Amino acid sequence: DPIMEILDLSLWYGEKQALFDVNFDLYPSEILAFIGPSGCGKSTALKALNRMHDLTRDVRIEGRILMDGHDIYAPDIDPPLHRKRFGWVAQKPNPFTTSVYDNVAYGARIHGLTRTRADLDEHVETCLRRADLWEEVKDHLHSQAGTALSGGQQQRLCIARALATEPEVLLMDEPTGSIDPIATARVEELMLDLKKDHSVVVVTHSMMEARRVSDRVAYFHLGHLLELGPTMQIFEHA
Ligand code: ADP
Ligand code: ADP
Repeated sequence: DPIMEILDLSLWYGEKQALFDVNFDLYPSEILAFIGPSGCGKSTALKALNRMHDLTRDVRIEGRILMDGHDIYAPDIDPPLHRKRFGWVAQKPNPFTTSVYDNVAYGARIHGLTRTRADLDEHVETCLRRADLWEEVKDHLHSQAGTALSGGQQQRLCIARALATEPEVLLMDEPTGSIDPIATARVEELMLDLKKDHSVVVVTHSMMEARRVSDRVAYFHLGHLLELGPTMQIFEHA
């Protein structure tokens, strides 16, 4: 069964329509790539999934987004609680200036996932290991600032931070768009590992990246979802 169902989703920024009757499902343990030219609606569609759009500020939505069969825009949904089910990774690594430890501990603290200091230590280690960063940072957890790491390490730290709230879905907006090729390979490998227990939606400008990591591809053009299908099938006639 899909974890999310997006049904006839349309979205307007003021007068401007950015999405037109978009339909897709998201399944557990898959990587779905959003591709298409700049301005085609990829980020807009990504933000709709975790209710990042501020509907009070001139953004209007039609259609439905169901998670576990429940409409996420229904009045009984608490947006912060809904967002906790998602991890967000931005294009430009944006770690906090605090220590590596506190970067990861932050979300777990806020959501009360850990009770004692020992629990928290263990949780931070688990997330850093899961993000393939533990060995590089374990000796300076409290003394090194997140911002003092290399670009690729910063991005893996942001992934560890995203994992700290134990999300079911990872939303990645061009996660390799501003790191070097070696760091990119490492993040891509990590994504393939993370999909074992997460659904991953990744926006990418890179067809090569979509080919390497995704199970399915959604191709957007001018706010329309033009093609949706298994990655192999989509690239066959590209
Ligand atoms: P992509 O991620 O594919 O580059 P976006 O989803 O960012 O595309 O943008 C889709 C369209 O909506 C573009 O025309 C963009 O300029 C417009 N847009 C995005 N965000 C806003 C906003 N906050 N206000 C008005 N227009 C926006
Ligand atoms: P990013 O990829 O980090 O979102 P952008 O430059 O595409 O960077 O967009 C920065 C912010 O401005 C985003 O929140 C986006 O939704 C918003 N935005 C994009 N296009 C427009 C637009 N035409 N009008 C107003 N806001 C926009």
